[in-house]
Order: sequence, then structure tokens, then C-alpha cells
Amino acid sequence: METSAHSNAYQAYFLGPKAENEAWVRAEFQATLDHWFHWRKQLFTNDPSVSSPEDRRSPGYLRARERISQGLEELNEMLKAEVPKFPPRYIGHMVSELTLPSLLGHFAMLLHNPNNTSRDASNIGSKVEVEVIAMLAKMLGFNPARATGHITGGGTVANFEAVWRARFRQDHWLSLALYLAENRGLTLDLFDAAHMGWKRFGQLLCEHSVPIDSLKRCSAVASNPYLFGERMTRAFGIPYRGPVLLVPENKHFSWTKAVNIFGLGEEAFWPVPLDGMGKMDVAALQKLIEVAERSKRPIIMVVSVAGTTETGEIDPIDQVQGILNAQKDRRGWDIWHHVDAAYGGFLCTLLRGGASSQVLSVSNSAALNSISEVHSVTIDPHKLGYVPYACGAIVTRDHEAYSVSGFKAPYLERQQEMPDKWSTTLEGSRSAAGAAATWLTGKTLGFNPKGLGAVIEQTIHACRAVKQKIEKAIPTAHILTPVETNIMCFSLTTKAKSLREANRLTSTVFQKFVDCPDFSVSKTTLSMSSHHKVIQRHVVGYGGSIDDDHLVLLRCVFMNPFWAEEEIRERLSNEFIHHIKAWSNDVDLQQAEQSSPLARAEKNTKLAS
Ligand SMILES: *Cc1c(COP(=O)(O)O)cnc(C)c1O
Repeated sequence: METSAHSNAYQAYFLGPKAENEAWVRAEFQATLDHWFHWRKQLFTNDPSVSSPEDRRSPGYLRARERISQGLEELNEMLKAEVPKFPPRYIGHMVSELTLPSLLGHFAMLLHNPNNTSRDASNIGSKVEVEVIAMLAKMLGFNPARATGHITGGGTVANFEAVWRARFRQDHWLSLALYLAENRGLTLDLFDAAHMGWKRFGQLLCEHSVPIDSLKRCSAVASNPYLFGERMTRAFGIPYRGPVLLVPENKHFSWTKAVNIFGLGEEAFWPVPLDGMGKMDVAALQKLIEVAERSKRPIIMVVSVAGTTETGEIDPIDQVQGILNAQKDRRGWDIWHHVDAAYGGFLCTLLRGGASSQVLSVSNSAALNSISEVHSVTIDPHKLGYVPYACGAIVTRDHEAYSVSGFKAPYLERQQEMPDKWSTTLEGSRSAAGAAATWLTGKTLGFNPKGLGAVIEQTIHACRAVKQKIEKAIPTAHILTPVETNIMCFSLTTKAKSLREANRLTSTVFQKFVDCPDFSVSKTTLSMSSHHKVIQRHVVGYGGSIDDDHLVLLRCVFMNPFWAEEEIRERLSNEFIHHIKAWSNDVDLQQAEQSSPLARAEKNTKLAS
């Protein structure tokens, strides 16, 4: 198979652990500064300058300059102690070496400082944002001419943006149902009404000549949610308990924050159980939808995850969409499907490449391919897009799914001009630097199988190669399978194979990694309450016994592009394995000593004397 290991073009896209590309990168930064200086000088050429050469020799001026110079020096000195994320030895969290185009794009835009909240304050910044959203939309499989979205401060905010939109849509449908019940004596089925779809909404408005503005007074969002609840209870004759959010158990913490912030209450958070692979159990999802219907709880949205934060797993998005499509056909329910692809979204660069990649399984390719059918997607360029913080994005499949402000029916407003961004974003002022960083990466490296896809493909290969080596070299290391992307988690066991002891050993070895500068790894803990099938499969898989309520794992994120180099891969994986072996032996010996009756007796005598 032709892989980018045979092509070294990727090396031009990253500075390199030894600043290999220093010379020309220096020149590019200089060229960007030159543009900036020139831009100033050629604007308003007849305006006076503010300082003369003499001014710039004055003591006050020179003192100020010195202060800045010293302050900057101090900052740069301090930064020597910053966590180095560029070396391939950093396999801790979802961050790594940044692409050069992203740094250069970020820097160039930063110098101009546009505020993408409004076109008045951002001419080129907003244009770049529109273009980069189209690039991301295309990569995700959406029609870039219809899809829309914007850059956010990250995946958390992008998830909030999706909830905001899905709630906005449902609020219209529920308002109409309430209006009809209160004013026209027409009581629809509450659950049907909550998912009626825009088409039926339009028909009902027309049939009953409902003035759209009067819906405002029937809205939970535009009036008062508590009064709305009381009126719903009265109108439908059953206690109204509010809407729910269906999110897989492996939920990122941002979802808990979302139900809090949107005032839904944490009870509104309905976790969908996971299967033994840590993926959303679609049969369980089906059941939960039925429970929601029976208890007349509107579903704001169903969330699937592409690339879970703990282990990198991809939910069967296609099967989830299949269930929702079937509900639409059979019952007419239009249920919002959001994909939290904060981490895994850029795996879509591996799709649509003709003879592209065999690195994704058939089921994962199918899952990622069906993102094109969902309503909205969260994707973080500051994770697998290799761009600087803070840069996330919300992408919706069309303008209808993007609408959020103003009490209007989006389907009636299609011809309207795109409003200024401030009215449709949760955040106010927004930097254009993240958009530029992503834009330049997309323009140059490319969000396709030959570009970023090839880089990501190599990281997946590297992850698998290290996994195989660990399996061979450390019999007490147990990898949490399946390893689907470039994240690998494993636990370490002692002879006794008790989960409690394994957790202790894994935590101790993690602490050794923290205390030693050679590698950065992370630790994750899966709890029995959310991951019991996963833990069961893992522990029973190596013949262990479950005597604890959680599983501690060492977590390695192999997103560093330099693992593609054979020499780095060999040397670092050997060293990594050596550390784990040595440390687990140490701990094993210590534990053996501590637990031997003789050693304990000796210790006690020592303490007594
Ligand atoms: C990282 C992540 C988030 C949150 O993104 P931030 O950019 O950290 O706010 C949400 N969901 C998933 C699945 C993630 O991996």
C-alpha cells in the first residue's frame, strides 16, 4: 500500500522536533511581518507619523522599550518550562505539533485582529471563515453550497451551539401545538407535535391561519419556561416534564454542562448505554426513544460521538441515522441528530479518496460517511486539525438547521440575507485567527486522503505498531480493544489479576510517567456505572476478576506526525516499553514485600523499637 511513509512531503508541513525547517519558516514569518509593516505605511500616506527619530532616542522612550524587551525576555524564559507538545514523546492529550500553515495563518490574521462577530469589524476575516466552513463541510460530506456554520472557541461551545439550535427548532413546533390547543381547541399528540418537522409546521400554520408572531407568547424560550410548562400540562392533560437529550454514556463533560446551562436540569440528560466495545448501543437508543414517547418527553436531540475522548471509539452513526430515518418514515418524527466529532471529525479526510485508505474498518467508514445525513456536527480543528487553540467549529447541513435567532420560521426566510454573525453565535467577539489557521492548512496540506488524511493515517499505523509491540513485549499489559483510531489505552496487571490491584499498579506506573520527563501519557478512568460491558470484556478477556468499581487505564494519543519515521518509532517504542517493564517490576516487588507476612512483621518491630 502506498503510504506517506514513502513520501516525505509531510515534513514541510511541520517545523520538526529539531526545528529542521527553521530557515525558511523564519523567512515566512519575516515576510508576514513585512506585509504588515508595508500595509500600514501605504495607508493614509499623507497622515503625520507619531514619533520622530529624536523621540525614539529620548530616555523615556528608551526606558519603555527596555521594559518591553525585558518583559518579553522574562516571558520567553518562563516558557522554557511549558509542557513540550511537539516531541513524539508527548502522547498525553489530544494536542501535538502544529502545522506550519496553521501557525503562519494564525499569525498573519492575528496581526490584523478582525472580529468575526460582525462584517463591519471583519472584512477578510469573515470571508475566510465562510470559506473554511465550506472546506470543513465538504470534508464532512455535506453539500458545501447548502451547509453553514461558524468557528467557535472549541468543541464545548460547538456542542452548546447545536443544543441551542435544536431547542430553537423544537420550541417552534411546541409553541404551535400549545397555540392550537389553547386557541383552536385542537390537541395534537404531544410527542408527534414536538417532532412535527417544518413541512407539517407550515401546513398547520396555513390551515389554521396562525399568525406566526403570536407563537412567541406560547414559547418556552421567548416567554417563560415555567409558565409554558403549566400551560402545556393544562392543554395536554398530562404533567409536562420538559424535553430530554439522548447522549451516549461515554459523554464528554460538555454535555452535562449543556443541560445545566440551558436550564434543562441534569435529569433531562438521558444516557444511552454502551455496548462491550464502548459504542452507543443502538437497540438501547431505540428503547429510549420509545420511553420518551410513552412519557411524552420531547427529544431535543440524539447525539452520536465520532472519536470518544477516552478511547477514540466511533459510534455507529449510520445505524443511529437509520433508526431516526425509520421513525421519520413510520411516525413522521423529525428528530435532530448531532454528531460530536470534536476529535474524530478530521478522520473524514480519509474518506472519498478513490483507492484511499484501508486504515478505517468498513463499519467505521460507514459511520463517518453517514455524517452527511445528520443535522449538525461539532469538529475541533485544534485537535486532529493540528491548528492552535482556540478553534472549534459547528457545522450544520443547511441554513434551516443553523437558524437560531428571531421568532421566525426558517423555511419562510430562506431568501433572506445572512444576518451578522453576532445574532447567531453564542459567543460575542470572535477572533478570525483560528479560521485563518484552519483555512491555510486546508488550502495547502488539504483536507483529503493525500494531505491531512495521509498524516492521520500514519498516526493510526504508528498506534497499531506500538500496540503490537506492547502485546509482544509486556505480557502483563492488556490493551483495551478495539483500537480504532490513534488512541490506545491499556491497563497493567499483577499475577493475582485482581482489578483492584491492576488499578493500583496502573496508577502507580502513571505516576512514574508524571515524575519522569521521558514521555507524557495520560490516565483515564472508566466507571462500572457507565462502562460495565467494556470493563467486563476487558477484564474477563485476560482472565481477571472484577473486584473494583472502575478501570484505570494508561492512555496514549498517537497524533504526533513524527511517529511516521521508522527510526523514531523503533527507538521510542522500545524505550517506552522498557520504562513500563522496569516500573511495573519495581512496583510488583514492592507490593510483594509489603504484602509478605515476614516483611510486615519486620516493619512492625522496627516501628515498635
Ligand atoms: C474535546 C472534546 C470536546 C470538547 O472540546 P473542547 O474543544 O475541549 O471544548 C467535546 N466532545 C468530545 C468528544 C471531545 O473529544
